[in-house]
Amino acid sequence: MIIGKIEDGIVLDHIKAGQGMKLYNILGLDKLDCEVALIQNAHSEKLGRKDILKIDKIIDVNLDAVGYVDPGITVNIIRGGKLAKRSHLEAPEEVVGIIKCKNPRCITTIEQELPQVFQLTDRENRVYRCKYCESKAE
Ligand SMILES: [Zn+2]
Repeated sequence: MIIGKIEDGIVLDHIKAGQGMKLYNILGLDKLDCEVALIQNAHSEKLGRKDILKIDKIIDVNLDAVGYVDPGITVNIIRGGKLAKRSHLEAPEEVVGIIKCKNPRCITTIEQELPQVFQLTDRENRVYRCKYCESKAE
């Protein structure tokens, strides 16, 4: 499949197949007014199958959110049709306001104005737990 070339924008590449939509939702790409393409099950030498997200505008991508979904994703910034910057990510130590705690007894469920803070408690298995109640993020 061929998708139009980007002049100025962002390409999120090497997304594990099936994770593209999750990333799309976490980054709130549905709220953008520019073209966004989600390519699912693209062929990849490295992963076999992968998803790719193309955004036809240079926006502030929340790199913590991308690193939370999968630190293996590469973020390519395209300017004037050329690769201007490629970022490799790490799983962030802490993510704020990206995922919500599902524990109904958690203080963040009761006090809605509290920020949702999750901390990385196991880097090898990428386990995140709520800072307040230690519930595991899904
Ligand atoms: Zn909690």
